[in-house]
Amino acid sequence: MNLASWVQRNGRRLRGRPALAVGTQVRATWEAFATEVAAVGGALADAGADGYGLAPGDRVAILMANCPEYLVAQLGAWHAGLVAVPVNARLHPEEVAYILVDSGTSLVVTDEAHRADVADLTERLPGLRVLLAPGADWDAAVGHAPAVLVDRSPDDGAWLFYTSGTTGRPKGALLTHGNLLMASLSYYADIDKVEAEDSVLHAAPLSHGSGLYGLPHLARGAVSVFPTSGALEGTELLELLDRWPGMSFFAAPIMIRRLATDPALTAVGPAGLGGLKTVIYGGAPMYLADLEVALATLGPRLAQIYGQGETPMTITGLSKADHADTDHPRWRERMQGVGFPRTDVEVRVVDEQDREVAPGEVGEVVVRGRVVMAGYWQQPEATAETLRGGWLHTGDVGSMDEDGFLTLRDRSKDLIISGGMNIYPREVEEALLTHPDVAAVAVVGRPDPEWGESVVAFVVPAEGSSPTYDALERACTERIARFKRPKEYHLVDALPTNNYGKVLKRELRERLGTDSLPPALTKR
Ligand code: AMP
Repeated sequence: MNLASWVQRNGRRLRGRPALAVGTQVRATWEAFATEVAAVGGALADAGADGYGLAPGDRVAILMANCPEYLVAQLGAWHAGLVAVPVNARLHPEEVAYILVDSGTSLVVTDEAHRADVADLTERLPGLRVLLAPGADWDAAVGHAPAVLVDRSPDDGAWLFYTSGTTGRPKGALLTHGNLLMASLSYYADIDKVEAEDSVLHAAPLSHGSGLYGLPHLARGAVSVFPTSGALEGTELLELLDRWPGMSFFAAPIMIRRLATDPALTAVGPAGLGGLKTVIYGGAPMYLADLEVALATLGPRLAQIYGQGETPMTITGLSKADHADTDHPRWRERMQGVGFPRTDVEVRVVDEQDREVAPGEVGEVVVRGRVVMAGYWQQPEATAETLRGGWLHTGDVGSMDEDGFLTLRDRSKDLIISGGMNIYPREVEEALLTHPDVAAVAVVGRPDPEWGESVVAFVVPAEGSSPTYDALERACTERIARFKRPKEYHLVDALPTNNYGKVLKRELRERLGTDSLPPALTKR
């Protein structure tokens, strides 16, 4: 089944009902959305002068901030049987280039904000074509003759989700139509029912959480709403709730924390948020203190999800009912965990030999089910390693209690989550190591009340040299996204290592906030 069939079905069923909205204004009815999707699908597939000549299975990257055109491009690509490659709009051009090359993308749909970067890339990547939306070419695509929906099997690729490996280059997790269908059905099973009268707000990036959580809403005919602020902001949210009641949205814990103290929302309290249905949070740890503030402001509308790009939206969940069950003797403890296995998966905690450990014991979280990715794009070895024995090895460390409730003790040890964004230390280390004055480097996360974690680099200078703040900063900004830059650099004589020569990051983390931490370099 092709997921884009949802759009055509809703086009016929819901006709003049709103499908896409910008702020309080309707941008497209279901009928219009279905027509645009079929037209863009036609333009992408058309091998003549009016089209892009793409064949089923070809990759189309989408590099743009959240906007209605994003969904038209994504669903249009699916309509034509293509694989969408949603690229995080905040990545550095070098990182974007890597993804475009690795995925063998031949067309990138982009917006004005990324136009110059993409133009540079087309000079270096021969054969890469660009479709700017909005723009004259986009208008032509939307005006193209509609294509017939291309048949897809559940095993055909739909979404190539780039997730950085903790070791090595980013990898593309290939999510099939079957995977995303299962993830969507499991939303109805465990999180919420969705009706055509409902709405979904896209405040978080469509290339990640918001795009995935949008699918079960799109399938049921709810309206997809794009905030004009491009963010989650209290006053605007109140206005949107009035216009689009039955609203749900996905947000990273850091966004929830900000929203929970937004004066416009605290002024009205939970009773003033009647139009708000469900707030899904996940992707990074939510701290209990923050959750309590969020529940006080938003009411019992919160649901948590623990998932991974490799198993979208689905490993475990804490339902709205779990959040509301404040009389439960272990409520506080539970609110610090990630909940129960979702309906469509089996979840286990295993030791290094992949044997299931006893309740309460800590091990790696592994998952099996129809939602688990087909594999990493063109990386058979990494796929075999991650999916060994038929189970997805998440790299997350946790324990499950007697009731089957999962708590993450630590996530994949070195991953840093700052502002809801994953930062893999290796990428930052690689960037810093390109500087000739750097002999060795280790990057760790420091708990940060505002960002969740901030990036800290321990740098061993090359003999006889003394790298400056500015030089290290430049090494990063030339290669990686700005949000991945360390907030602090500490020069050290050596890095602590174990017998195998592996850097002991745990020890480095322990040094943060102690006297043995040398002063951070400062900007000149
Ligand atoms: P990504 O593939 O970018 O979605 O990142 C997935 C990783 O984020 C997981 O492997 C976890 O380490 C972390 N993560 C996701 N959801 C949660 C959650 N609810 N609580 C804590 N960590 C989470």
